[in-house]
Amino acid sequence: MAAPEISFENTEKAFNAKGNQELKRSLWLFKLMGNPTLVKAFSKLIVFAIKIGIPVRLPVKATIFKQFCGGESLEESKDVVKKLSRSHIGSILDYSVEGKESEEDFNRTKDEILKIIKLAKDDRAIPYTSVKLTGIAPFDLLEKINFKKPLSKDEEKEYQSLKVRLAEICNNASLSNVPIYFDAEESYIQEAIDSLAEEMMEIHNTKTAIVLTTLQMYRWDRIDYLNKLIQKAKDKKFFIGIKLVRGAYMERENLRASQMGYKSPIQTSKENTDSDFDKAVDICLENVDLITLCAGTHNEASSMHLISKMKELNIPNDHPHVYFSQLFGMSDHITYNLADAGYNVTKYLPYGPVNSVMPYLIRRAEENTGIAGQMGRELRLIILEKNRRHDSKLLTAGK
Ligand SMILES: Cc1cc2nc3c(=O)[nH]c(=O)nc-3n(C[C@H](O)[C@H](O)[C@H](O)COP(=O)(O)OP(=O)(O)OC[C@H]3O[C@@H](n4cnc5c(N)ncnc54)[C@H](O)[C@@H]3O)c2cc1C
Repeated sequence: MAAPEISFENTEKAFNAKGNQELKRSLWLFKLMGNPTLVKAFSKLIVFAIKIGIPVRLPVKATIFKQFCGGESLEESKDVVKKLSRSHIGSILDYSVEGKESEEDFNRTKDEILKIIKLAKDDRAIPYTSVKLTGIAPFDLLEKINFKKPLSKDEEKEYQSLKVRLAEICNNASLSNVPIYFDAEESYIQEAIDSLAEEMMEIHNTKTAIVLTTLQMYRWDRIDYLNKLIQKAKDKKFFIGIKLVRGAYMERENLRASQMGYKSPIQTSKENTDSDFDKAVDICLENVDLITLCAGTHNEASSMHLISKMKELNIPNDHPHVYFSQLFGMSDHITYNLADAGYNVTKYLPYGPVNSVMPYLIRRAEENTGIAGQMGRELRLIILEKNRRHDSKLLTAGK
């Protein structure tokens, strides 16, 4: 495979948009998050403090929220969108309010998505958007639909409301020409999500991919699903949009499978997940006229694999069907170096009231814990950059 001419080790480019204070804050935060006991204790404490009404909004907002979120509202997030755009990085705004269960909440989330679509219509800094189905419908309902269980009269009504909300979102996305990704969730509701996503793709993707779905490659059945989806799209003549991720619910999936005594949907090893991720990249790129691909990953090897495969297939860096994406606050060394080399790259930028985005923030803190893995990567590069700045200051002073 062709060798890439890009390095993710260039910390000067990676942290160019971060001032010294910001860099120090990130260093301090990732160091704290490196301690699993502390993360567990803090997570519990903050959830408890919110429950009993202790005001934690300001300290949380100035620290972990600032690292991983755009703002408390769409309006407040615009500054981050502009800042990313100056470095040629798109923003995927996501109203990250979780754990809500009322019709009112679901409609509020739907309205917020419509606002994002309206904003994105005239702004190239927001190339597409996303929807999490549990943000617009009850989890239990999706689970029943998933297993084709009979619905009560009330549930039937809820299902119709979900379909109306989804149709409104996808129609708006289509009319505004703003692609929308369906996020992937737990396997026991994913079939319901997949079938709704496919239904919307068939309707809206006749000219280009407006509705896009997500495949979690930690599942051993997703390559097969991808191949079947490609065949269906060819037969029914619609375009496909795929966001490839590894998957965020591994522990929950394995635990449920062992408790309920069925075969876990998760791969038997990380190597198998990595290998299927790269295989799926190859399949998507080999069908680049049909598929719009977004690689949602912080994995350097997978990102390099995608770059090499693009080269091998003579796909230009800025091909409109190929995107890379990382979460805001993480893996800037990948995002900024890709943007600098002319690849299409976005940051997934969550926003919402501090208390409501706490589940998202706790997941980020947990993901960044431990010496190995993500936290190690982030910390190593931030320290490298801090030292680089320190040395170059010394050099300047010595001149
Ligand atoms: C832009 C973007 C959008 C995302 N959207 C979604 C989404 O819609 N749905 C979703 O579920 N997640 C989503 N994620 C999160 C994603 O699934 C991963 O949890 C996260 O990105 C870490 O994986 P990685 O590819 O960055 O790489 P790595 O850090 O190399 O991989 C870590 C991942 O590998 C897998 N893994 C780890 N150990 C094992 C093992 N023993 N066996 C099998 N697999 C293993 C797990 O999925 C784990 O999260 C998104 C991430 C990004 C960046």
